[in-house]
Amino acid sequence: MGGSPEHRGELLKLKGLGQYTAAAIASFAFGEAVPAIDGNVYRVMARIFGIRSDMLSNEGKKEFAALAKLLVSREDPATYNQAMIEFGALQCVPASPNCVVCIFDDRCFAYRHQMQGQLPVKIKKLTIKHRFFNYFIIRQCDKLALYERRGRDIWKGLYDFHLVESKAPAITPDSLTIADPVFQKLVSKGRLTEIPKVYSHILTHQRLQVRFWWLEIPETERIDLPHGMAFYSHEEVEVLPKPILIDTVLREENYL
Ligand code: SF4
Repeated sequence: MGGSPEHRGELLKLKGLGQYTAAAIASFAFGEAVPAIDGNVYRVMARIFGIRSDMLSNEGKKEFAALAKLLVSREDPATYNQAMIEFGALQCVPASPNCVVCIFDDRCFAYRHQMQGQLPVKIKKLTIKHRFFNYFIIRQCDKLALYERRGRDIWKGLYDFHLVESKAPAITPDSLTIADPVFQKLVSKGRLTEIPKVYSHILTHQRLQVRFWWLEIPETERIDLPHGMAFYSHEEVEVLPKPILIDTVLREENYL
């Protein structure tokens, strides 16, 4: 292997090679005494030694790494790593491991405390999605155009206004309507007024930043609404099921 990196440290400098792969290559190919820790090995260590730290946190990873370093065989790290991985994959499986026929049955913390289902501890971080909503409240003769939200998105079955979602806070309404000729035509027939307040709305997995524009269409104009929308009278708007945010804006704008 002339010129090839022969140590885990060297391997780690190679682009795209993670800790686990570098350790596995170092031990399997070069006999280096470094532990290869994959999900199986985390599970085996957590259960046998009763490690209750979150295996996804930095502190938890350090604790597992320190123990793994102590455990790894100096004589035959390749066989040791292979054995740990396979033991986790075949015997100490994630759901319902067969502890009665396990070689560690007399010393395994999880088995003794019946905590196989709780170990290892993995606390998934909540991923929060940031979204930018831009609503156009189309009004003609005191009627508002709304549509019922369908599909797999938030607020299914509730009514809201013409919505253009953007990847970043919108700078001008022009930038929002340019991709939609039908709506652009509608805008050209009316008068746009921005509601100065920018609303923040927090959902479990999402943070919405929401802006609103009134689009007043003169009574005399004949218009085509975007597909799926219809005009509703004041009384109808009042009783239609709406997201709280839509209700709030209509009250703050003194429509409701
Ligand atoms: S006794 Fe059960 S939980 Fe403990 S190492 Fe064996 S299979 Fe895993």
